Amino acid sequence: MALVIHYFMNISRRAQNISPSATLAISARAKKMQEETTPSFGHPSKEGNRVINFTVGEPDFDTPDYIIEAAKRALDAGHTKYTACAGILPLRKAICEKLKRDNGLDYAPNQIVVSTGAKQALANAILAIVNPGDEVIIPVPYWVTYPELVKFAGGMPVFVEGISSIKKSITSKTKAIIINSPNNPTGAVYTETELRALATSLRAPRSNPDPIYVISDEVYEKLIYRGKHFSIATCHDNTIVINGFSKSHAMTGWRIGYSASSVEVATAIDNIQSHTTSNVNTIMQHAAVEALQGSGGEKFLKDMLAEFDKRRKYMVERINKMPKLSCNTPDGAFYIMVKTNVNAEQLLEHARIATVPGEAFGAPGYLRFCYTVSMDDIKEGMNRLEKFLNTSSV
Ligand code: PLP
Repeated sequence: MALVIHYFMNISRRAQNISPSATLAISARAKKMQEETTPSFGHPSKEGNRVINFTVGEPDFDTPDYIIEAAKRALDAGHTKYTACAGILPLRKAICEKLKRDNGLDYAPNQIVVSTGAKQALANAILAIVNPGDEVIIPVPYWVTYPELVKFAGGMPVFVEGISSIKKSITSKTKAIIINSPNNPTGAVYTETELRALATSLRAPRSNPDPIYVISDEVYEKLIYRGKHFSIATCHDNTIVINGFSKSHAMTGWRIGYSASSVEVATAIDNIQSHTTSNVNTIMQHAAVEALQGSGGEKFLKDMLAEFDKRRKYMVERINKMPKLSCNTPDGAFYIMVKTNVNAEQLLEHARIATVPGEAFGAPGYLRFCYTVSMDDIKEGMNRLEKFLNTSSV
């Protein structure tokens, strides 16, 4: 007990206020269970003991060769020194070209900051604009990291049910809104009409004349099965676009993402990053230029999308046939939110299926399944789930 009190006395209130990531916690437990049943731990590995891990939000595809080759070339060329904190100019230019080509957005390189994943880009953006006491509106369900970053900056997350409820939650203290389309965890894709309506509502007069920022997390932009991606930056000037390479190019471990914003915000972001991490790994920056400009990206994406689409359809069909479960068909990303009163612990313990509890996303009564595992594992997981539901008393 004394130890616990001592710990809390020495840890900043800011750090104590941050909740650990539920996604990482359950996936670590699943990995541990898996390790304990592999032959190296003295147990024969039985199919029934294997954990089917539906928690991992990263593509189960290798980074395409043309990007790996570019990283090797960068090493051979001796690109091993510090770069400008915001990133090498060719990469910032390539990002501007991408934003123009894919999203119809006009940015100059001094509006782009390349960061250690979209996650750091988000953290920088929130730290750059949120003052203590500011309110930041976050539609539910949300990606686990948003509220924690807002709290970290001293701001107050304000949760609303979906983007249509944002308008009525705006107060004089509202500083920003965080939106994410396609969405983690629901896979929902906001339409252009919905986003234009949101942008219009943000222009309505209020007692505080300051503009409201939109932080638009577009990391799943390329993973859409139905509908079309639309960036709210097209119709709302005070938008900070967040994007990256993790999901679109299967580059999760490379840790590279970026923000695009006004020069004023980009300068603040650059300053923050210059005192925390400085530039993103130089080799990765050179590889990222190739990721955006090299040939090979389109075919890779097409194949990956086709595979995800197959898995998505299969899982939705199986889940909706099971007793006590239901789900919507997601239009993007690689997640399915399943409505159920089964809890994640029970499922892991009794069926060796790992999922993330909806509470982590502000959505109790749901479990999030990622279809970033092979079709064979998905089939096995669905069979186990069906058996569990038919034999347990939930
Ligand atoms: N935004 C959302 C909605 C995500 O789901 C993730 C990763 O899971 C990220 C941002 C972070 O991506 P990155 O790997 O680029 O940091």
